[in-house]
Amino acid sequence: MRILIVEDELKTGDYLKQGLCEAGFNVTLARNGLDGFHLAMTESFALLILDVMLPDVSGLRIVQSIREAGNMTPVLFLSALDTVDDRVRGLELGADDYLVKPFAFNELLARARTLLRRGASQPAVQRLQISDLVLDLGKRQALRQGKKITLTQKEFALLELLMRREGEVLPRSLIASQIWDMNFDSDTNVIDVAIRRLRGKIDDDFSQKLIHTVRGMGYKIEAPLSDDSN
Ligand code: CA
Repeated sequence: MRILIVEDELKTGDYLKQGLCEAGFNVTLARNGLDGFHLAMTESFALLILDVMLPDVSGLRIVQSIREAGNMTPVLFLSALDTVDDRVRGLELGADDYLVKPFAFNELLARARTLLRRGASQPAVQRLQISDLVLDLGKRQALRQGKKITLTQKEFALLELLMRREGEVLPRSLIASQIWDMNFDSDTNVIDVAIRRLRGKIDDDFSQKLIHTVRGMGYKIEAPLSDDSN
């Protein structure tokens, strides 16, 4: 089983890697947040062990990003910050467990094994569905009336964000920060353009429109009230 460790402290990283290798795991060690983030997004692991305090991309940020991308790999946080706020924040962002430094290796191993067992028994596929539109997060696939729709990564992320918050009006500023990781600048129409493209793919060929513009506020996705399939 492959485990990714992201830890910038040299000694801790080496110690964890060695211990987990000896316990029979296939371990990849990233020494900074950016490498860790890249590995977590592009390769497949059974468990991620993330240090919270990393000099570039924090462990919190990594877990937030991979969860937003639909990656449900179990995450164990390591942190010296033993405050309730940090624990709650980490768990809210999608970490599965939290271990405060310093910790005994046996404790880490026990927690890791628990998460791996839990991860293995969880259904791997997660689906979001609104009316006849299905977003398969496991296969990274969108379907409308059973027909496959090809989306870019950004379009997929945008649709996922809208679908996870079905019926809720999402301001452009929120979409900008979540999908483009940028502060919203009212001069840019990048979001309107992206929404138009997404509509072209999921709504234009169908009588039932799902994406709605709420003038002056933003966008939402919602099935019409009367569920008349004609
Ligand atoms: Ca650190």
